[in-house]
Order: sequence, then C-alpha cells, then structure tokens
Amino acid sequence: MITYPIPMVPGPVKVPQAVLEAYLTNFGSADLEPDFVELYQKTEANLQAIFGSKNQVVIQTGEGMLALWTALKSCLVPGDRVLAIATGLFGAGIGDMARSIGAVVRTIDFPYNQTVHDWLSIEQAIAEFQPKMITVVHCETPSGTLNPLQKLGELKAAYHIPLLYVDAVSSLGGVPFLADEWHVDLALGGSQKVLSAPAGMSFLTVSEQAWEIVEEVNYPGYEALKPFRHAVRDMYFPYTPYWHGMAALYTATEALIKEGLNNSFQRHTAAASLCCSRLVSLGFSLYPDPSAILSPTITAVHVPQGITWAELDRRMRDSGLVAGGNYGPLANKVFRLGHMGTQADLELVNQACDVLSTILSAL
Ligand SMILES: *Cc1c(COP(=O)(O)O)cnc(C)c1O
Repeated sequence: MITYPIPMVPGPVKVPQAVLEAYLTNFGSADLEPDFVELYQKTEANLQAIFGSKNQVVIQTGEGMLALWTALKSCLVPGDRVLAIATGLFGAGIGDMARSIGAVVRTIDFPYNQTVHDWLSIEQAIAEFQPKMITVVHCETPSGTLNPLQKLGELKAAYHIPLLYVDAVSSLGGVPFLADEWHVDLALGGSQKVLSAPAGMSFLTVSEQAWEIVEEVNYPGYEALKPFRHAVRDMYFPYTPYWHGMAALYTATEALIKEGLNNSFQRHTAAASLCCSRLVSLGFSLYPDPSAILSPTITAVHVPQGITWAELDRRMRDSGLVAGGNYGPLANKVFRLGHMGTQADLELVNQACDVLSTILSAL
C-alpha cells in the first residue's frame, strides 16, 4: 500500500498510535457486557463535553452519514416542513435527503463560497414557513467555511421551532461548539474527522424535545434512534456492539479532553492561519469569499491556472502530499487541505505548503 508522509485529506485523517492500539484490543466477551455499557457511557460523557451539551448522546455504528440520516428519519414524517439552510454541498444535500423521505423542504441558498449572513431573510422564512425542523451545516467541508450558529439558535428559540439540526461532523473538537447554548436539538458528529479515530462511528446529541418527537414518529428502521433512548438503562442495544470502534472513539475523545478543548481550538486556529497565509503569499487563491468565515479545520483553494486537478493531485502525491479533491460544482476547481485532528500540526502544514510552492513555481 502506498502511504503518504504528508497526509492532508480533510477526513478520514491520520489515526494516532494510541487510538490504533485501542482498536486492536480483544475484549473479554464480544457480546453485550456491562463493560461495553461502561465504555459507551464514558464515551458519551466525553462527547457531551465536546458538544457542549447536557443532552443524551447516542453513539451508533456507521459512517458519519449515518448520523445525518438517523436524525432525519427518526424525526420526520411525510409532509413535515423543513427549512434547509445551504451554504454548500452538505447543506443542500441534507435538504435533498429530507425531501426524499417526503418532507416539504424550503431551501435558503447561499453561494457555496459564503457563510450564513442574511439573517433577515432567514428570520422571514422561519416566521412564514414555520418549519418543524431547521437544518444547517457548521463546517461546510467542501468549501472550507464555518457557519455562525448563535443567531440561528436564538431565532429557533424565539419562533418556537421544534428542532434545530446541525451537521458538525467536520468541525466538532477543532472549533467551539455549544449545542445547548445555541439551542441545538440534534448535533451530529463522526469519528474520522477532528477526533482522528477510524471511520465507522457516528454520534448525535438528542434534546428532550427531540426525544418526544422520536417517540411520536416511532421510526422502526435499522438506523432508528428510538431503541437508543433507554439502551443503557435496559442494557439492550438494537444490534451487536462494535467494541473496537467504541474503544477507538473513547481513546480519541480522551486524548482531546486531556489536551484541553481550548488548546485544541488554538492548535486548529494556528494551523489554519499558517496554511492560509502561506498559500496566499505563494500566490494561491482561497475559494471562500473574503466575507465568509473560514473554518479552522480545512482550507479550500482554487486549483491554480495552468494545471488540472488530476495533474496537481499526481504531482502532490509524487512529493508525498495527499490532499482532498472536491465534488459537484467544485470538482476539479477547488482542492482542500485538511488540517484537522492529528493533521492540525504546524510542521505538517509547512511541509504541505513547501510541496505546493515547488509545484507552483514549476508551472
Ligand atoms: C465527512 C462529513 C460527513 C460524513 O461523511 P462520511 O461519509 O462520514 O465521510 C457529513 N457532513 C460533513 C459536513 C462532513 O464533512
């Protein structure tokens, strides 16, 4: 297998040794044991601290996308109104997902290189449309941008909207997140981004209001939230526990708590500002509009003139650097350096920028 000494993919990120070791452990019994429940609860407590929430955190086996689906399918029935705020591919995609399960979706679209700013039109839409759920993405990974959430939470509370759904998959742990203060009912995360655990665990906070709706909706599918409400109390989980994934996630959350959340935020901010300032001084142009808020976890950059993405990707790999391409309308036009989790490292950012500097001067 080819490995790259300069990993800068914006998730899955490089998994640190301690997390790999936690994964490679055998457990006394692989079935549901009190030990597993204890591990689940300790992981939940760490995730509550990271999410800034006293609400229950449900931890499920599956990719980050699972959290996006589980929260929609467990809370919506056909005909429910959803206001989807879209400042990028994930925000728009969540609106499409809600539509696919029969919700009546109104989307507020912003250009993909901007962050939420037109609060008046958002407030008007909330007041007029009275959605059951508002959906938004914290860090739009393909765009490298970070949406502010405080004001949206205030509007949600002021208009008594039942549910605020926030995809925090690529920001959580690298950027302050205050789920309770921002009135977030469903805050979603995944293991393989900032937390730097292997892909395969997803988790979400569920507010009391959301639990009431989950009970009413009573969605029965594989990804349903409802069986998790009393899973710990009843020691009854809806499927076989994934010991290895849970142990890796627990170790990853422990490392973040031990580092200190504020230290992690500072480390991400420092990596991002180094990355941006070096790339701009080399002559690269950042994708986000100057008015947008940049995410401390990812830098999105235009593919420079005179080279295709495929060729840039090849030259980066030849020099030991692997970065992220893009999707949809940004495919082949914008590429990304993921300085999140283990990759929020000044040395690594400098190495990546050195490679890009060499490639650019050869053009
Ligand atoms: C990575 C990511 C997801 C989850 O996708 P995966 O399939 O787990 O990679 C969801 N939302 C955002 C914003 C992400 O960056």
